[in-house]
Amino acid sequence: MLKGKTALVTGSTSGIGLGIAKALARQGANIVLNGFGDIEGPKAEIAPLGVKVAYHGADMSKAADIEDMMKYAAAQFGRVDILVNNAGIQHVARIEDFPVERWDAVLAINLTSAFHTTRLALPAMRAADNGKGWGRIINVASVHGLVASAEKSAYVAAKHGIVGLTKVTALENATSGVTCNAICPGWVLTPLVQKQVDAKAAALGLSNEEAKKLLLGEKEPSLQFTTPDELGELAVFFCSPAANNVRGVAWNMDGGWAAQ
Ligand code: NAD
Repeated sequence: MLKGKTALVTGSTSGIGLGIAKALARQGANIVLNGFGDIEGPKAEIAPLGVKVAYHGADMSKAADIEDMMKYAAAQFGRVDILVNNAGIQHVARIEDFPVERWDAVLAINLTSAFHTTRLALPAMRAADNGKGWGRIINVASVHGLVASAEKSAYVAAKHGIVGLTKVTALENATSGVTCNAICPGWVLTPLVQKQVDAKAAALGLSNEEAKKLLLGEKEPSLQFTTPDELGELAVFFCSPAANNVRGVAWNMDGGWAAQ
């Protein structure tokens, strides 16, 4: 379905971003990976899917790095057709104890980076398909873009912000073939969440399994983690012709978390 298209997925060396990159690659899209840590493993997972894969190590907290990454992607593959703003970090502390530097980092990586990638991707998306425009911008927000939890002020503010940015992006491009939507996962067992499981286990003297059950039980009625593969299939739907007129939604995949 996506043969000949190019997808750039920020923060795709791990977790949800890698799951989405693989799902888009299975549909034939060439992939630009981004993120820190091991890059050979993720590349080796995508290459057998028969698409081209490139990598740029831009730090999503730095506008100049992001500009360089967008130029690199265009030079590699012509243009970015599908932009997945996924890179994100978490910090857990009460507001009065929240380190100012962590607030700035969470806002920069989880929200401002998506403004930069979006502003840089839009001109080529709008020019595509002989000026009618074609593009898909998918923002990986969170159930925390819809509801709050204590001790996550920066994360909740950034995720509510990216849901707002999603709606504005959708509206500004509503008469073109460029759509923008957000995905709002509940708990997904990635390194970002394992850190929170570890903190709970250490604080309460629990095993890893007990801490995971407690985490799910507090918020997620299904008592199940959503998987990166499931989120990847939702991203594939947003890229499909059936989603041509799905614009500005914040779609939760959260085991019923936000339904409560
Ligand atoms: P993860 O820690 O597994 O992956 C985060 C990715 O972002 C990694 O590739 C990492 O290298 C990259 N990254 C971090 N800082 C970066 C920076 N400064 N520049 C470039 N890349 C950077 O986390 P994840 O759980 O897969 O999270 C992915 C997204 O999903 C985040 O936006 C997160 O907020 C969101 N999310 C996660 C969950 C969950 O339960 N795991 C739930 C809702 C939303």
